[in-house]
Amino acid sequence: MNYPTTQLFIDGHWQDAANARTQAVFNPADGKEIGRVAHASTADLDRALAAAAKGFETWRNVPAFERCQIMRRAAGLLRERADAISSLMTQEQGKPLVEAKMEVIAAAGIMEWFAEEGLRVYGRIMPSRNLAVRQMVLKDPVGPVAAFTPWNFPIAQVVRKLGAALTAGCSILVKAAEETPASPAELIRALADAGIPAGVIGLVYGDPAEISNYLIAHPVIRKITFTGSTPVGKQLAAMAGKYMKRSTMELGGHAPVIVAEDADVALAVKTVGASKFRNAGQVCISPTRFLVHESLVTEFANALVSHAQSLKVGDGLTEGTQMGPLANPRRLLAMADLTQDALSSGARLATGGERIGEQGNFWAPTVLIDVPLKARLFNEEPFGPIAGIHSFKTLDEAINEANRLPFGLAAYAFTQSLATSHALAQRVEVGMLWINQAAAAWPEMPFGGVKDSGYGTEGGPEAIEAYLNTRAVSIMSV
Ligand code: NAD
Repeated sequence: MNYPTTQLFIDGHWQDAANARTQAVFNPADGKEIGRVAHASTADLDRALAAAAKGFETWRNVPAFERCQIMRRAAGLLRERADAISSLMTQEQGKPLVEAKMEVIAAAGIMEWFAEEGLRVYGRIMPSRNLAVRQMVLKDPVGPVAAFTPWNFPIAQVVRKLGAALTAGCSILVKAAEETPASPAELIRALADAGIPAGVIGLVYGDPAEISNYLIAHPVIRKITFTGSTPVGKQLAAMAGKYMKRSTMELGGHAPVIVAEDADVALAVKTVGASKFRNAGQVCISPTRFLVHESLVTEFANALVSHAQSLKVGDGLTEGTQMGPLANPRRLLAMADLTQDALSSGARLATGGERIGEQGNFWAPTVLIDVPLKARLFNEEPFGPIAGIHSFKTLDEAINEANRLPFGLAAYAFTQSLATSHALAQRVEVGMLWINQAAAAWPEMPFGGVKDSGYGTEGGPEAIEAYLNTRAVSIMSV
């Protein structure tokens, strides 16, 4: 599929921005402009909001079984179109084609799971204190939703919000990332082709702050959902509070990996090695702080370095590529700064640590050893292909370090002890903990963080609950 100009989707129609404004989209593998995306003005947002208000009235009155069928049809279309859509995603985001295709297929599965789970949005009938009274608990869709999604998983980040909102009966206006506009547009197209009524979904692009300021304050919007960095999430959450809007915040993380004294080192390296460099480390649940027992640290570091050196880095469209470029030049600068700071704080460079070539945003898979806790790498979310290793003596020390930062999104641990596993499950302050395995972000499981990593979850029945109002209705027979 040739890379297109991405239009806005408003009231069931693909259209240019009212003032015909567009902005460029670049391929991170070579820095060249590959296409353009429409840039919405306030006039476009007003039309999108009016459509979302109308779409909500339509969609909330469609029976859950029909909503389920439309969503399932869209999932089928995504699967049929997966090759073409993943090629667009790789061109605009950089990840290897195989990862892009996995994302599209996973998105179809997420949509199907939400479609089915929406059939089980139950209310309650509660025993009353007066037999003449019937008291009921009703669940209603919260209303039109504004969703803000980032560029690292252009489709997966949208579908988690879209799936939960649509199955609950909400309309949704998505502002996806301007850097990766074409692949999320294909997700919306699949839903449109599957028969979703006009106005139920809108898609806009433009100036992120301008759009979020306008939508969050607008009375039509009843719920905000954002995935992105913690600083931006705090701004949007504060605004949501000001206007009394419900909100879900999926923010940054800095995942510790605790490799305990009794860990299977080969398993640990195989598992977190693959996760660390997936999507060039631009993953909110990416393993980032490797806390390894002092008796295993040399063996672990050597194996992780061999893994990093074995990776084939290149254009995601080239067959065999295992790691693509970073999504934008900002990340390259961040990698250079974090590496330099770690080295000047006393860390040792075991591999990588530099840009590859002059063209595109390629950064070598990097492993830093003996990283001091004060290094920025151990305090700021790296969001790139850098692994920092720090050794520990006691499990308490590792848990304290895991909990030291304000983030609390994901953590990983490797141990063959049930007692250690239980201690970690109780004490590590994160929303998601994976022991002896890679991240398994299945839609039936909660996905979200605690502390500065945000609130709310984007998986499991709780994800749908976030798009529902709970109301009490009591009827007295007279
Ligand atoms: P950023 O903080 O400027 O933007 C992050 C995302 O938020 C982008 O998609 C952007 O379009 C959007 N955004 C920014 N300001 C906004 C606003 N006022 N209103 C609505 N949306 C807004 O940073 P960036 O350079 O794009 O990404 C770098 C950092 O963002 C990373 O270090 C990482 O911490 C975080 N990030 C997190 C995720 C995630 O999955 N949680 C995804 C992408 C980026």
